[in-house]
Amino acid sequence: MVEKLKQVYDPESFKQLGYEIIDLLTHHLEEAQNEHIPVMNWQEPSSQLDFWKNYALGDKPAVSLFKEIIGKSIHIHHPKYMGHQVCPPAPVAALASLVSAFLNNGMAIYEMGGAATAIEKVVVDLIVQKVGYGIRGDGFITSGGTLGNLTALLAARQQVKNSNIWENGLQDNIGVMVSAEAHYSVDRALRVMGFGAKGIIRIPVGKNFTMQTQLLEACYENAKQDGIRVMAVVGCSPSTSTGMFDDLEAIAGFCKKEKIWFHVDAAHGGGAVFSEKYKHLLKGIDQADSIVIDGHKMLMTPGIMTFVLFKEKNNSYATFNQKAQYLLAKTKDEEWYNMARRTMECTKLMMSIKFYSILQCYGEEVFAQSVDCLFDLGKELAVKIKQRQNFELALEPQSNIVCFRYIKPAVSAAGLNRLNSEIRNEILEKGEFYIVQTALNDLVYLRTTLMNPQTDGGDLEELLDEIERIGNGN
Ligand SMILES: *Cc1c(COP(=O)(O)O)cnc(C)c1O
Repeated sequence: MVEKLKQVYDPESFKQLGYEIIDLLTHHLEEAQNEHIPVMNWQEPSSQLDFWKNYALGDKPAVSLFKEIIGKSIHIHHPKYMGHQVCPPAPVAALASLVSAFLNNGMAIYEMGGAATAIEKVVVDLIVQKVGYGIRGDGFITSGGTLGNLTALLAARQQVKNSNIWENGLQDNIGVMVSAEAHYSVDRALRVMGFGAKGIIRIPVGKNFTMQTQLLEACYENAKQDGIRVMAVVGCSPSTSTGMFDDLEAIAGFCKKEKIWFHVDAAHGGGAVFSEKYKHLLKGIDQADSIVIDGHKMLMTPGIMTFVLFKEKNNSYATFNQKAQYLLAKTKDEEWYNMARRTMECTKLMMSIKFYSILQCYGEEVFAQSVDCLFDLGKELAVKIKQRQNFELALEPQSNIVCFRYIKPAVSAAGLNRLNSEIRNEILEKGEFYIVQTALNDLVYLRTTLMNPQTDGGDLEELLDEIERIGNGN
């Protein structure tokens, strides 16, 4: 072996750098959690690009590279990180990710990932039981909620009567009914599947930004008259912008009556199945034909890992099967251990071990504690917002997603939109907090997702103080 390659695979160098990186990350975790550093050092994309284009490690130790990367990244473990729905991963699960990356078991077939494959079945079976599916349920893990939604909807498409799209391609107009507030990944999945814009039937939301389920019937009839065969309804648990949960029982009732597929996009909120306090928000989820739950949102795993669950075991094999073969195979014992038969991925990370490591080290109850803590924080922030005159809550939060805006008397709607956008930009560039923004009924709102159990009431007060300061022009 040439010298350079020997160096690449040298165990001693790995060990040395490995220890240094663990020290570095430990220090980073302490600094971030104790708020000794800002959430991020904002840089324009072009200056970030210039930096990395011109970066050279040179004679510096290898760990310097990782130090620079950390310094120039957003710090999710910081209690003032309150933006997008990505969790501060449990360190044990991050180490599991390292093990996955290191072992690099491909997972497509059993022999390419024996342990991770069996562990995948164990953790999927646990979630299947938690959502209330019983022994007929099954599922698998895939890379992200976006891919999860596509995979589940492809399984639904296999069920469309008198058609074999897998074999013959799309011959009819097929559609899916979905809340106007659904995540864009649902829209994307339907377009990827060839349904086009007309195949995406948006059900208007009511005041609380959830699907107006009483409109399902009329929208269904309209679609039928337009020559569209509605194959499924998608419920949001919760929707992304506002964090509000659709009425799953009502959707389930409708789907049962019309004999169409019911999919629940619980990418964000599905973790609440672990919580005695909040699982009522998911009432009816056990009647869904398929469900998607992200581990990297509410279940403390590093990105990405997503559970795709099916009420009927056979359907978890449906997505990539030839239809006839899949119908025939119904009675056979499927090869649960050859994962690539069921997932979009061929080579797949050993995602199951991230979740399993948390489960083994801390027990199931830690998932409930995390969900309870974060959803409670959402309520606490709402209380604080209502106590302040210059703030307006968009709506009473049901989860850890809270939307609100800064208001001022005698300023137009457009003026307030500008002001809130400016507030958000200033916060971003300053880097002390990280929050995002969203538009609801053409009004700009500041949007926070409380993802970090280390965030406390003091952090929330400081955020509101900061917004007030910027809003007042100080
Ligand atoms: C985050 C999210 C998704 C997308 O999941 P990824 O894992 O980011 O691909 C889909 N739907 C909802 C409701 C989400 O919150």
